[in-house]
Amino acid sequence: MTFSIETYGCQMNYAESASVVELLRSRGWTQNEDAKAADLVIINTCSVRITAETRVFGRIAHYTGLKKKRKFVLIVMGCMAQRLHDEFPTRFPGVDYAVGMFERDIFSDLFVAIEAGATYVPTEEKPVNEYYFSPTSHQAGAFQSFIPIMNGCNNFCSYCIVPYVRGREVSRNLDEIIKEIAFLEDRGVREITLLGQNVNSYCYTDSDTGKVYDFPALLELVARTIEKRGIIRWIRFMSSHPKDFSDSLIDIIAREPAVCSLVHLPVQHGSTRILEAMNRKYTREDYLSLVGRIRERIPGVNISTDILMGFPGETEEDVEETLSLIRTVGYDAAFMYHYNPREGTAAYTLENRIPEPVKKERLARVIKLQHGIAQERMKSRVGSEVVVLIESVSRNNPDELFGHTELGDMVVFSGKHDHRLLGQFVQAHITGLRGRTFRAKIVIIEPD
Ligand code: SF4
Repeated sequence: MTFSIETYGCQMNYAESASVVELLRSRGWTQNEDAKAADLVIINTCSVRITAETRVFGRIAHYTGLKKKRKFVLIVMGCMAQRLHDEFPTRFPGVDYAVGMFERDIFSDLFVAIEAGATYVPTEEKPVNEYYFSPTSHQAGAFQSFIPIMNGCNNFCSYCIVPYVRGREVSRNLDEIIKEIAFLEDRGVREITLLGQNVNSYCYTDSDTGKVYDFPALLELVARTIEKRGIIRWIRFMSSHPKDFSDSLIDIIAREPAVCSLVHLPVQHGSTRILEAMNRKYTREDYLSLVGRIRERIPGVNISTDILMGFPGETEEDVEETLSLIRTVGYDAAFMYHYNPREGTAAYTLENRIPEPVKKERLARVIKLQHGIAQERMKSRVGSEVVVLIESVSRNNPDELFGHTELGDMVVFSGKHDHRLLGQFVQAHITGLRGRTFRAKIVIIEPD
């Protein structure tokens, strides 16, 4: 039988889609990129922004129409399946199953039923705060893999739907994380990203020793674990809440060569007044002081962020504060978006909403400034020597190879190259920059 899956939203969703793909493959299913011919279509959804939900409504309508022409099973999973769970049978009759965030452990039974041509009937109600971590999120053949280490969020930023759809924070069992690392090493993975809505909230107590592992302790343990076999060489993590980014975490990044010098530190806004309305629990000054400590102790660190413009009550002065914060920090990259009210969140009822054209104009100014800064920072790296993990053949030219640097920069190696270099670390000389992709020449292939 064949399946097709489409994914919207954050890295957690991509990791969770990969775990469903892995489960289906282990049951003998084949992935079919052409959803028009698949026996099973899965849509993994996001509720964070209204635009993501609107797209999925369109996709559901498309597949519902397709069902009039041929028979297949349609599953919706992820945040929308959780948020609109009880509405699915009446509102979206074309969807056969809506699998909410806390029902992910039903997938095995669900697939058994689909394989038998039967209807799946759930057997028990799940407690709302339980979360199932699948054994692996690895995509076959990939040299990079996500490892979810926690799920959910307790922060309740006033604009954000995540705590309502993913629930409270649940940390993954430490032994399972270590087992997954061994599994990924066996599959030739070279780089891992520890994933969670707020990785700094990781907290796990070893029942044998009573030792409590917070995120810096986990990161250190993961660094010691991968050192033994030397197959995985880079560790990344995301996302971090600035209020929880401790000095001990800065020390670990500075001290452990395997932990990439890359910090994603969502600021959301540059005005303390707006940060307070967002319930972010730090001020502009707190944030800038944290950035200062990070830059001081991790030379050459790459800092990226998320910025949300057009929050209710935002003034021109607040916009100026955001622009000045962007200039002060000098971000290497940023995800920038404008505010959309999400029903059920604290900010939904706030007055002083910013008109749509004004939000868009403010966002455009932020994007223009940030793109200019990022471009300058990238240009300054031309001529330098970097280490690159070669991960695939270039999409545009099958002779060329493609990879990423430790700082996450994309690199293409021009000219004809041996495909046996895939999965290798190489030292490279950056020769140029096209858009946001560097061109480079291989200097030395690093020994394994
Ligand atoms: S920290 Fe805030 S923005 Fe991030 S997931 Fe939690 S509530 Fe949402």
